[in-house]
Amino acid sequence: MGRFAPSPSGPLHAGSLVSALASWLDARANNGRWLLRIEDIDSERCRPEYAEVIRRQLGALGLTWDADLPPQSRRRDHYREVIQDWLGQGLAYACACTRRDLSPFRRDGETCYPGTCRERRLEPQGQAIRYRLPDEAEVRFIDRRHGPQTQNVTAQCGDVVLRRRQGDYTYQFAVSVDDAEQGITHVVRGDDLLSSTGRQILLMRQLGHPPPTYLHHSLLIDADGHKLSKSTGADALDLTQPGAAIAAALRQLPLTLPDLASELPPQQLLDQALAAWTLLIQPSSGKMEL
Ligand code: GLU
Repeated sequence: MGRFAPSPSGPLHAGSLVSALASWLDARANNGRWLLRIEDIDSERCRPEYAEVIRRQLGALGLTWDADLPPQSRRRDHYREVIQDWLGQGLAYACACTRRDLSPFRRDGETCYPGTCRERRLEPQGQAIRYRLPDEAEVRFIDRRHGPQTQNVTAQCGDVVLRRRQGDYTYQFAVSVDDAEQGITHVVRGDDLLSSTGRQILLMRQLGHPPPTYLHHSLLIDADGHKLSKSTGADALDLTQPGAAIAAALRQLPLTLPDLASELPPQQLLDQALAAWTLLIQPSSGKMEL
């Protein structure tokens, strides 16, 4: 069971289409289901109208989904229960450190938490909540494109933030609870999330669920060498030419296609791509390990 999990902080752009397309192809080639989960947990950045736009965009491109998973904004009560449970068991704890307190521990855009509040037994009210990593927080997994991976979560980020001080649940926590509990078996997404995978696997194990398999595809890069993203102002997909949008996304995937004529109707391009992806994931192709 695969999923596409866009955050509705803007319409789909050429970069997010690659994730949608790759996860759709993978689910269809495995005769699996492809589910849509709107990740609107970040109330400041997300807007309901963008969720609608994304749904329309997917429909216009022929990327049909089998079912809607509950949007994350409707799962807050459940996330709260998980955190209560973990606090009760000592698996999570409250942290009063401010961004400023932690700035010396910030490197390459990521803060490695030094464990300041681990043993302080603070009241959770109005504080951030962190997951207490186990002593051996080294996670091994196989990425279907990159091969065997080892991530030491203690060295990467330390105890993982589950809820921010202002009350918002974090992406890392919400995505782990959802992928685990919604029975997702195949996650296909961009390389920018490869480094998050180890911590998500740890959280899923804590929830008592086996993690899915992962495939991280390469990212679309803009003319300045940056990842194409909403925050850097990527353009919304041009749906007057759905074939061109799909052909551009397909070029980003490791598929051998006879011809990526963008003037073909989207359905024809998708059929060709599905045949190529099916070949790609066959163990005998030797190209990509499942
Ligand atoms: N919601 C995340 C995003 O739009 C993707 C989450 C995921 O695929 O794990 O970037």
